[in-house]
Amino acid sequence: MDLYSGYINKLIDELAGLPGIGNKSAQRLAFHIINMPKARVERLSAAIADAKEHVRYCRECFTLTDTDLCPVCANAQRDHSLIMVVENTRDLAAYEKIGKFEGVYHVLHGAISPMLGIGPNDIKLKELMHRLKGDVREVIIATNSSLEGETTAMYISKLIKPTGIRVTRIASGVPVGGDLEYIDEVTLLRALEGRVEM
Ligand code: ZN
Repeated sequence: MDLYSGYINKLIDELAGLPGIGNKSAQRLAFHIINMPKARVERLSAAIADAKEHVRYCRECFTLTDTDLCPVCANAQRDHSLIMVVENTRDLAAYEKIGKFEGVYHVLHGAISPMLGIGPNDIKLKELMHRLKGDVREVIIATNSSLEGETTAMYISKLIKPTGIRVTRIASGVPVGGDLEYIDEVTLLRALEGRVEM
């Protein structure tokens, strides 16, 4: 038996499909949205639609951005020969927040996971290798310290080594299985400064 109207159920279903939102939270959010003033609901739905419509990959580093080149890649003051490889745009944001990294990034959009059937071709790895044909002196691998992150780091390192470009890995101290975005800035900076050769 349906407890709610079809429209409410539909909203709950859509919200429950989002990561980290269980059925209870989806119900709470759905009723919250329904009780919001109409103008706010319109702003929320427009923000979702606009983000989807206008956000794209940066031509260089593949982070999510509104412009052809993201602000980091477009900045001539940054060291474009130093590339930090991260799993996603949230990790990039975490490093940008500490404001100490002078280089540029490469966003993989995932990590290699044989268990989930995610292979090297499912992440932006070819795109990274293509960038390395330019003037690059060091690649810092800052994937998460999860099994997938470590697997990806090893794979990338093996791929880059023959090119003679320096490959480093951010220092551990980043807790195992830890998502970069949840780690405090001091730990993040220490991990970057204490990076080791691969
Ligand atoms: Zn970029």
